Amino acid sequence: MGTFPVFHVPRAKMPDPYVRTARRTHLFTESVIREMTRVAHKHDAINLAQGFPDFPAPQLLKDAACAAIQEDINQYSITWGTVNLREALAKKYHDLYGMEVNEDREITVTCGATEAMAAVMLSIVEPGDEVIILEPFYENYGPDAVLSDATPVFLTLEAPGYRLEKHRLEALITRRTRAIVVNTPNNPTGRVFDREELQMIADLCLQYNVLAITDEIYEHIYYEGEHHVLATLEGMRDRTITVSGLSKTFSVTGWRIGTIIAPPDLTDAIRKVHDFLTVGAPAPLQEACAVGIRKLGQSYYEGLTADYRDRRDVFLSALKDSGFKFSTPEGAYYVLADFGDLSSEDDTTFSKRLARDGGVAPVPGSSFFSVPERGHSLVRFAFCKKIETLQAAGERLREFATKARS
Ligand code: GLN
Repeated sequence: MGTFPVFHVPRAKMPDPYVRTARRTHLFTESVIREMTRVAHKHDAINLAQGFPDFPAPQLLKDAACAAIQEDINQYSITWGTVNLREALAKKYHDLYGMEVNEDREITVTCGATEAMAAVMLSIVEPGDEVIILEPFYENYGPDAVLSDATPVFLTLEAPGYRLEKHRLEALITRRTRAIVVNTPNNPTGRVFDREELQMIADLCLQYNVLAITDEIYEHIYYEGEHHVLATLEGMRDRTITVSGLSKTFSVTGWRIGTIIAPPDLTDAIRKVHDFLTVGAPAPLQEACAVGIRKLGQSYYEGLTADYRDRRDVFLSALKDSGFKFSTPEGAYYVLADFGDLSSEDDTTFSKRLARDGGVAPVPGSSFFSVPERGHSLVRFAFCKKIETLQAAGERLREFATKARS
């Protein structure tokens, strides 16, 4: 008696003096993608919410990881990444993209592209700066900007083409614009920006002294066009921070190996932030990724895309049969689908019902927009699953749609 039971009062209901969490944590919510994974487990639904493969990683990678552990590569690596991995990355960027990268001064290896993106924003953005984010967007960028005390500014790309228009981007640039986040191939739309769109971004970055932060985690997964590395466009090398990682390329999302390539002055700052956030990424898994990059080259990447194309086609045909409307993804492994012909529910209600009654869990579309209403009749499905999983999900969707229409 006598002490106020602070711990038992739900935070949201506490009067102001008892709110003990920083204001910045109130400005974003928990990840809806991860929440939908929990919903999928609860209902024993097929999880097409969180984008992780349900098929094995390449044997070569697994063997290399086991070997590294057995060889006792089990202590901290150099905080910004093992020599082996940085050298393998420098070689890959040179061979594949014709980009010269100094592994000693321009590469930082992080705990996934997620940490990479947060470390980059914390390193280059001042409080009050504006960061332009193209929406629909992958849910991390907003919170990353907020954690850096920056203001996210959103540019909505319109379905079905999700094309970038120069005048609309230019209209958002102010004296406070510090950076633009460019995610291609894109999660969730599946867009692969073409050379012309990237050139528009480059022109504006150069004209207005804006930095570009790219998220190229799906760089090897595209079905149309080509992946262009923004840093390789004229004048952009010095103002682009290239974020990527091995999670998607090697189907090892749980390994948490992300990569950042940036000019030396930016890398110095990024490495300091990364060091105090996480010290370093798992040492034996970095070694295994170095082996993967060296031994699995272009033919592996082509095989990866060919397999994803098959998965995409199997899933999209079920989606079409079930009455969803969507733009065919050109890259990455997601499809943003409109369920307006199946239900007038909002996206969250529909997603949860589809998980519970239909046995397939998607992500509500509102998670990818700054204004939830923009995603109110959309859901995102991830098709990075075995063909059998996608066929089973397809059957369930067809059945669900038949019931919805009857
Ligand atoms: N990038 C994946 C997705 O969009 C996984 C997200 C996550 O849980 N880190 O689903």
